Formats: sequence, structure tokens, C-alpha cells
Amino acid sequence: MTGSEQHADVVVAGGGYVGLSLAVALADAVPGIAVAVIDLRRPADAAADLRASAIAAAARRMLETLGVWSAIEPDAQPILDMVVTDSRLDDVTRPVFLTFDGRTEDGEPFAHMVPNGRLVGALLDRAAALGVRIVAPDRVTDFSVGDDDVRVTLASGGTLRGRLLVAADGVRSRLRAFAGIRTASWSYGQSGIVTTIAHERPHDGRAEEHFLPAGPFATLPLTGNRSSLVWTERTEVADRLVRGDDMVFEVELIRRLGHHLGEVRVDGPRVAYPLGLTLARDFVKPRFALVGDAAHGIHPIAGQGLNLGFRDVAALAEVLADALRIGGDPGAIDVLEGYERWRRFDTWQMAAVTDVLNRLFSNDLAPVRIVRDVGLGLVDRLPVLKRYFIGEAAGGGGAQPKLLTGAAI
Ligand SMILES: Cc1cc2nc3c(=O)[nH]c(=O)nc-3n(C[C@H](O)[C@H](O)[C@H](O)COP(=O)(O)OP(=O)(O)OC[C@H]3O[C@@H](n4cnc5c(N)ncnc54)[C@H](O)[C@@H]3O)c2cc1C
Repeated sequence: MTGSEQHADVVVAGGGYVGLSLAVALADAVPGIAVAVIDLRRPADAAADLRASAIAAAARRMLETLGVWSAIEPDAQPILDMVVTDSRLDDVTRPVFLTFDGRTEDGEPFAHMVPNGRLVGALLDRAAALGVRIVAPDRVTDFSVGDDDVRVTLASGGTLRGRLLVAADGVRSRLRAFAGIRTASWSYGQSGIVTTIAHERPHDGRAEEHFLPAGPFATLPLTGNRSSLVWTERTEVADRLVRGDDMVFEVELIRRLGHHLGEVRVDGPRVAYPLGLTLARDFVKPRFALVGDAAHGIHPIAGQGLNLGFRDVAALAEVLADALRIGGDPGAIDVLEGYERWRRFDTWQMAAVTDVLNRLFSNDLAPVRIVRDVGLGLVDRLPVLKRYFIGEAAGGGGAQPKLLTGAAI
């Protein structure tokens, strides 16, 4: 785009899962709308991401409505049940404190494990089919907001003029800083090691979360005899494990995993992500909105970060489509404040829940251990509470945007 100026109604900075799904949702709902997505990564590199994510039932319904799910489904593994344990690393047994049948009241799986590369690939294909302009690899370096439009400057030298700029540029969002939006943020001093394992015995669709003193160790089922690991450790330990010897990594892995899956081997790169909490104090400014991790980065203890981002997408797309259909301005602050009001409480609630869970479980203090295990045991014995937690994990609760219920906007 060197030196040229182009126009779009909505400019999305960041073509990760959240930015791409917003572009698809808008292009699908509003005929003739011009949407441009700018991303640092080449599309082929984005689609080669080897990690996987748990996609809640509500987010799956949105992907179905947007015409994306059918391309993902062959590689999606439903989570059929879940066990939660709480023990020390070298305890001889891992007493099970909580079990969940992984289905909601409607009988659908509360979540599917989906390879990230497949998800991004399917979103890119759908975006292309709907005429979304993908500008990549390129980078937003600055923007300025006028009365009627926003002018976005790219590293390539080009500019884009739009009526609204949406920042979907991740947890360390540069655009959030350019907009002068402050955050509440802290580090947990932990990192999440992510990798894939192949194992001899089937997982039977079971997800496991072992609360260990350094943090949760989760195995999440993928298609075939494979599982995705999200393994939390103190950051210095995680870095040593990821960079160190393969054999040491596998020995430490088996200490946490046990032998119930038979012979196990690491089947992909191992990467450690520093974990923290980041909450934007505002989600919108005139002609500017934050979505996904740019608005909120949370601990992966409940596998809900991306799902929160999908809920942002469903709410923002609905608010913008409603405004555009009656000739409104998608960058007007009163339109954008409708989105902020819709998303603020849910976001702060999820951030608080994940923060408390992580503090409660990532330690080995005897009194805290007793209280949390009584709590887990109680949930296990009360079907009403169990149904509530499964419903929440499936993305239910609160006033749902249409896309999350499977309705078009
Ligand atoms: C260990 C771990 C495990 C997790 N597991 C789960 C899970 O199971 N389920 C779940 O729901 N969530 C999970 N999450 C959270 C999830 O990964 C994030 O919430 C999700 O990636 C956020 O998506 P996003 O599109 O907002 O941001 P990102 O995925 O960070 O994408 C941001 C995009 O913006 C681009 N970009 C950055 N700066 C610029 C710029 N200046 N100009 C243009 N483009 C730019 C980047 O190239 C990137 O493509 C996990 C997180 C961690 C750390």
C-alpha cells in the first residue's frame, strides 16, 4: 500500500481470531460495507499456528452462523467430560474433587478443542469470500481522529481512512496506548507452557485440570490420540523447561501427567507465554474501539480468553450493524458506548473469577487447600451448581448478543 490512501468503513488493526471474526461478522451482516484488516503476519504464517484453543458452545454457534464452523468441524474435538484434581506434585494419588459431564442442558458439548491454524485459515477464507480486504504483512504505526473520520498510518507508507478503527492487536496493544487508554494490569509471575502430546491410549474426550502448587496443569483432548497441554509454572522454571533438554521436559511432563494415557511423546513446539491480567479502563473513544485481548488479557485457568473476545465481536458487530442499517455513524461515541456497556460487566466478572481462582489454587497453604477442596466437593455434590458452571463455561449467562445464540444479525 506504499504511498496510497484507501477508504474503508471499518478498519480493523490486528488479524488474529478476534479481528478476523469481527471483519467476517460485519461483512456478513451489512451488504456493501467496506472492511479492511491489517496484520503484522503473512496470512500463511497465521494459518500455520500449531496451538489449539477451547471454543465454548456460544462461540461455536457464532462461527456456525458466520459460515465458518463447517470448515473447522472435521478437526474439532468435543470435550465430553472433565475432571478436576487438587494435589501436590509428588503426592502418590490425585484425588478427584470435581467431575463434569461436558454437555450443557441442551445436550451439546460445552466446548470443542480447535487447532488455532484451522480456525484462522477458515476465517481468512470466509473473509476473502465476503470481500474483506486483508492488508498483510503490514503494521499500524499511528492514527489520528477527526470529526468525520479516522486516518490510519501504516508502516508500508500507505494510509487508510475509515469511519471507525477497531484495535484487535492483542494484549500489548500499541493502538490502545496511542489512544491514551490506561490499563489496570499485573503479572502473575507465572508462564503457561503450551505444547501438543501424542499418546498411546485414547483420551475419550476427557479434559483434565490438575491444580498443582505452581499453577494449573491442563490436558485438553484433540482429534486422534493427541492432547493439548497448558502447563503453568513460575516463569523462570517455565523458561528453563522450554529451552532445556527434551528428556528433562518429558520426565517433568510425566511427573505431572501420570501414566493413564500410556506412552507419551511431545508432538509439536513448546512455547511459554508470560501470564498476567490486563484490563483496559475504557473500551471506546470517538471512532475507536478495543476488542479481544487488546481490551482484556486474563489467566488461561478457565480457557476463556478467546471466548471473551468472541463475545466482544458478537456485541460490537450487532451494535454497529443496527446503527448502519438506519444510516447511523459506526464511529459515533453513543453507538460505541452501547458496546462498552454491554461488555464491561461480563469482562470484569470473568477477570475477577480467573484472578481469584488462580490465587486460590496456585499455592500449597494448608488452610487454603482445605477451604478450596471443601468448595470443590460441594460443587461436585450439587447438580444445580454444576449445571450453572457448565452453562457459564459454555458462554451462556447475561443478555446474549444474537450471534452467540446462533441467530444472524
Ligand atoms: C497459554 C494460553 C492458553 C490459552 N488457551 C485458551 C483457550 O483454550 N481458550 C480461550 O478462549 N482462550 C485461550 N487463551 C487466550 C487466547 O489465546 C487469547 O485470548 C486470544 O489469542 C486473543 O485473540 P486476539 O485476536 O484478541 O489477539 P491475538 O491473538 O494476540 O492477535 C493479535 C493480532 O494483532 C496483530 N498485530 C499486533 N500489533 C499490530 C499492529 N500494530 N498492526 C497490525 N497488526 C498487529 C498480531 O500479528 C496478531 O495477529 C490462552 C492464552 C494463553 C496465553
